[in-house]
Amino acid sequence: DGVIWLDGEMVPWREAKVHVLTHTLHYGLGCFEGVRAYNTAEGAAIFRMKDHTDRLFRSAHILNMKMPFSKDEINAAQLSAVRDNNLDEAYLRPMVFYGSEGMGLRADNLKAHVMVAAWEWPSYMAPEAKELGIKVRTSSYTRHHVNITMCKAKANGNYINSMLALQEAVSSGCEEALMLDNEGYVAEGSSENFFILRNGVLHTPELTSCLEGITRQTILDFAKELNIEVKERRITRDEVYVAEEAFFTGTAAEVLPVRELDGRVIGAGKRGPLTEKLQTMFFDAVKGRSAK
Ligand code: PMP
Repeated sequence: DGVIWLDGEMVPWREAKVHVLTHTLHYGLGCFEGVRAYNTAEGAAIFRMKDHTDRLFRSAHILNMKMPFSKDEINAAQLSAVRDNNLDEAYLRPMVFYGSEGMGLRADNLKAHVMVAAWEWPSYMAPEAKELGIKVRTSSYTRHHVNITMCKAKANGNYINSMLALQEAVSSGCEEALMLDNEGYVAEGSSENFFILRNGVLHTPELTSCLEGITRQTILDFAKELNIEVKERRITRDEVYVAEEAFFTGTAAEVLPVRELDGRVIGAGKRGPLTEKLQTMFFDAVKGRSAK
């Protein structure tokens, strides 16, 4: 039950449907966001909503889809989706897609539809993962797909390899996948950016093969506040094995320590002190104690 914002109107959850001839279902051209609201009852808000809306519009622009709404309207839609569903904490899913008005690859006459759904999302990983860290495997699926469809867009079709990578990781007893780019450098997780601490310097892959993560940027801002040196550069797999700390960042995963990659224990094999500090800063920010 509840309501979903669809093309400018709130519709009952069950009635927010698409046809089997939905263009995006066939060809995968569409884009979306994953956004989170924390503690709204106590006045905290949707975390970095404007950044997510900006990225959604950039994604649509890259995919040559014309947004039929303004950023203000999409922001208002997200706020209503949380409020009208009486959610205190929520995951939000704005999506831009082509409907069933026409088939064919030209698609230049098609109108983009927009929806915003919000629901309660239980913890992405087991709650203790935030303290203990997770086991990760390097994926046999690369992030090369991203180089074709461009990693600046959070595009539907970019998630095929991510899903296969995550399934592969889970079926081999790990909790998450680390995906490499097509040259073999570390790119990102299935839906998280990745960081390592090495010799006291924080390293994260440059934005050539990974999404411009909003949590990633939040962590870069925190590192600056803490006067920690950051290098955005290519990272090799063996550097991760010998890192002092490693963690993933993302709207769903938040700040998630990595304790093992490919059976190699990273650092002390548990959440490191910098990861813990950044986690604390992150939760303070999202809970509204210093939210921007
Ligand atoms: N990489 C990919 C491929 C993702 O899907 C996500 C989740 N949106 C991220 C990284 C993390 O981005 P953010 O911090 O904006 O959620």
